[in-house]
Amino acid sequence: MVAIDGFSSCGKSTLARELAKQLHYVFIDSGAMYRGITLYALRNNCVNGKELDRGKLIQELDHIQLSFRLNPETQKPELHLNGENVEHEIRTPKVASQVSQVATIKEVRAKLVDQQREMGKNGGVVMDGRDIGSVVFPNAELKLFITAEIETRVQRRYLELKEKGLNTDKEEVKANLLERDRIDSTRKESPLIQTEDAVVIDNTHLSRSEQLELALELVEKKIVTLA
Ligand code: C5P
Repeated sequence: MVAIDGFSSCGKSTLARELAKQLHYVFIDSGAMYRGITLYALRNNCVNGKELDRGKLIQELDHIQLSFRLNPETQKPELHLNGENVEHEIRTPKVASQVSQVATIKEVRAKLVDQQREMGKNGGVVMDGRDIGSVVFPNAELKLFITAEIETRVQRRYLELKEKGLNTDKEEVKANLLERDRIDSTRKESPLIQTEDAVVIDNTHLSRSEQLELALELVEKKIVTLA
């Protein structure tokens, strides 16, 4: 089990996906699951204006079923919400603007953490998120904590959204990242923390392949020698 945590838009999922491919592990993007619940909340009147109706969403939780299915063409896992492929919709700024509020709800976290533990119980998984090394898999063989300078993160997320044809501007992207980081690291339930046994990677000046190389060296040291 490799646990990858860190702030928003630090390239965690990109690294997790590439690492899983190299190791023949399964990649799980836990953030997609929080986004899936948020999309459900938006579609089912659990958000009025900007106000989240926590009680209503908690009541609805049993009606929300999330799963990942592999896209045969891209070979990437895609999130399904009650059987519908929502991979594109969960990445919109609308979902991004609500997701951190949804992720503060204890009952939401309990549901998703259970499912994440089930998916990772046999090992062979690279999972990225905010609480993977601290709460979901505290005994992960390798824990990475990814950081990058804010302007770099803004630029990367901005380009990613633009590529997907989503209309946004850099100021809006930056405000959303900072706000999510603030909520994620100050919430009561499983806040984002850097655990003592995590290895920090600052990828501000690293290319994707340099970062992957570094992570593979760490895996080699920590996991392969353990095996
Ligand atoms: O990883 P991503 O940016 O898609 O995650 C979206 C949001 O989901 C985060 O900002 C955070 O609020 C929440 N999240 C979480 N715990 C995780 C993964 C994501 O609280 N393990």
